[in-house]
Amino acid sequence: MAISKCGRCGEKTPKPEVCSSCKRAVCHRCIYASKKVNRKDIRRLVMCKDCWTDMARRKEYRHATKSKEDTGFM
Ligand SMILES: [Zn+2]
Ligand SMILES: [Zn+2]
Repeated sequence: MAISKCGRCGEKTPKPEVCSSCKRAVCHRCIYASKKVNRKDIRRLVMCKDCWTDMARRKEYRHATKSKEDTGFM
């Protein structure tokens, strides 16, 4: 099994996840939030802690994850 390095803290991690905003592969400790979304372009949104401090990116994430629950019939 390949061990990757986290793009944020540099820790070795067997299961990095790619942040949806900055596209870095980060370890689970650097992920602030992740959520499944029902969109044809994205299946899963991942937010690293760096991007979570970015207001514009946080808003984007909130918007993308919220739309599914609030407008279920669309
Ligand atoms: Zn990390
Ligand atoms: Zn990020």
